[in-house]
Amino acid sequence: MSKYLKIKVAIFKKEIAGQARNGGKNKNMKNFETLAIRTQSDRSQFNEHSTPLHLTSSFVFDDAEQMRAIFSDEIQGNMYSRFSNPNTTELIEKIKLLEGAEAGWATATGMAAVFTTFGALLKQGDHVLACRSIFGSSHTILTKILPKWGIEFTYVDIDDTENWAAAVQKNTKLVFAETPTNPGVDILDLEWLGSFAKEHSLLYVIDNCFATPYLQQPIKYGADLVIHSATKYLDGQGRVLGGLIAGKQYLIDEVQAFARHSGPALSPFNAWVISKSLETLAVRMDRHSENAIKLAAWLEKHPEVELVKYPFLPSHPKYAIAKKQMKAGGGIVTFIVKGGLEKGRKFLDKLQMVSITANLGDTRTIATHPASTTHSKLTEEERQEVGILPGLIRVSVGLENIDDIIGDIEQALL
Ligand SMILES: *Cc1c(COP(=O)(O)O)cnc(C)c1O
Repeated sequence: MSKYLKIKVAIFKKEIAGQARNGGKNKNMKNFETLAIRTQSDRSQFNEHSTPLHLTSSFVFDDAEQMRAIFSDEIQGNMYSRFSNPNTTELIEKIKLLEGAEAGWATATGMAAVFTTFGALLKQGDHVLACRSIFGSSHTILTKILPKWGIEFTYVDIDDTENWAAAVQKNTKLVFAETPTNPGVDILDLEWLGSFAKEHSLLYVIDNCFATPYLQQPIKYGADLVIHSATKYLDGQGRVLGGLIAGKQYLIDEVQAFARHSGPALSPFNAWVISKSLETLAVRMDRHSENAIKLAAWLEKHPEVELVKYPFLPSHPKYAIAKKQMKAGGGIVTFIVKGGLEKGRKFLDKLQMVSITANLGDTRTIATHPASTTHSKLTEEERQEVGILPGLIRVSVGLENIDDIIGDIEQALL
């Protein structure tokens, strides 16, 4: 056997050993929680139980021949952490299994995941169809950055599904949306969008940040790619930034080719943190959802509250669709206080426990007032278009005892 062949066999054996530990390849490991906990990279020579942190920018080769074979993709192996690292590989393997995807990629932030996806899949002259209610920075990428390279977009309203077909152009390449939306928690029918994208031969991309794969798996409804801000529920403890992309292999190949050279790589440390966090994603999302529906139901009865929106409240206009595509309603509740902008700001000022901060999806409950903060630069009319009324409050319901969460919100509403 040639030396090169020996290396190939050794690496192959190692991969098989890895697969034996890998949740996806072991037939006793089929369910979400188990895959999220048991999917792990290979043990090191120290036989640790918990995955170690691989803080290294590059990897050494045994000899010139191995280096050549790895560089030419003849055999798989780590070269440089901008390309791959055992910690990011483990995280990618998990998101792949949890979203039911063929392949995945990790990025430094959620926005890097959005930008990498667009950068990898779009070219000059292409057109994007996007749901109007998308994350603020995604909006900026579409309106300010992509046009510099001759990539156009059209917004469509979430409920105006008849207009979606009218907005498709000859050069439309991709449809992009979020559900539940931020901050209005509106719901888009993923199954409907799947058949729409198929009918018009569009790439179907969903930002699944609010739901996480535990509550909703867009790939089941035909999504080609799913994007995450891992900064939110996937870490879930407000510690690190990260982004993930999961979906069809041929699209991830493009994503990978773009990302390896443009460099939005996820830090191995952040990958290690997020991968550990995924071990508790299911229990956290169950409790976030349980606390959120209790808060939503309580708010609905409050005399100072005009309207409450939560996907699993029967009063939500898309309750039936939410029930069809989500396992639970998630951790975000929005409501409108009577008294508009001033009352909204006063509410925030009176909070004693609940944090006022820009993040969401944390163990700690967070409240924001979009009209005076994140969306203050929009005109009143633009805010109306995306459903941000002056008294709208967004609560990211945390994991504290629900009585304490309600207690703080109750005294702030007085
Ligand atoms: C936060 C967020 C992003 C951006 O993620 P970062 O990790 O902050 O870059 C994208 N989409 C949605 C829906 C988000 O909530």
